Amino acid sequence: MRDRISVSEIYGPVVQGEGAVIGRPTVFVRTGGCDYRCDWCDSPYAVLPRYRDTWVRMGTEEVFAEVRRLSEKPILVTLSGGNPALQPLGGLMERGREEGYTFAVETQGSVAKDWFGGLDNLTLSPKPPSSGMETDWVKLGRCLEAAGERTSKIFKVVIFDDGDYAYAREVAARFPEVPMYLQVGNDHPPGVAPHEVPEPDVSGLLDRYSRLAEKVIADGWNEATVLPQLHVLVWGNKRGV
Ligand code: SF4
Repeated sequence: MRDRISVSEIYGPVVQGEGAVIGRPTVFVRTGGCDYRCDWCDSPYAVLPRYRDTWVRMGTEEVFAEVRRLSEKPILVTLSGGNPALQPLGGLMERGREEGYTFAVETQGSVAKDWFGGLDNLTLSPKPPSSGMETDWVKLGRCLEAAGERTSKIFKVVIFDDGDYAYAREVAARFPEVPMYLQVGNDHPPGVAPHEVPEPDVSGLLDRYSRLAEKVIADGWNEATVLPQLHVLVWGNKRGV
């Protein structure tokens, strides 16, 4: 049973709306279960125990068969969560790579796994102060080490306020070799998943994006990349897009 993967949902292909591979078609495998409880988590249905009965424990072949059914041909597979680093995903990557699939992971960087070394893209999304979580810098460093040379690595930090911005600068100062992507946070009431809020505050998101971009320019932080949450702007808070 230990090699079974806790799956919240598998969907796509959709266009990746965030990070270094923004705009790329991808199939998402969202795993169930997380070691964090961020105040503004946008996927509580993949985190909180009350949703556990919606998660399915699947074998590697079952997950890959569903990815292949959805994509029909090789595509980028994004492993998300929850925290996908809690799951035994090495076999799925090996299986997919045999057939030309590529793999990206998004994780907060609290658990390092050997299989990070087989990824094409590792997005480490350490959580800023507004999340209510604290970063273990040693564990974050271990995640980078586990990914090794072959895997492309970035940081993505969600920014809600000045404290989050200062935190992102600290991450960049500690790990200057890793590209930093900043992303404006999507406000929603605490404990409520964004998809349960009918419409995002698009003008508010754009306003915060422009203020963040101006701040980065004013600071001369020329190594940073500032991105909106593309899928929220285009499709709103719908799940599965
Ligand atoms: S780490 Fe990600 S999935 Fe886990 S609680 Fe925080 S935002 Fe949600």
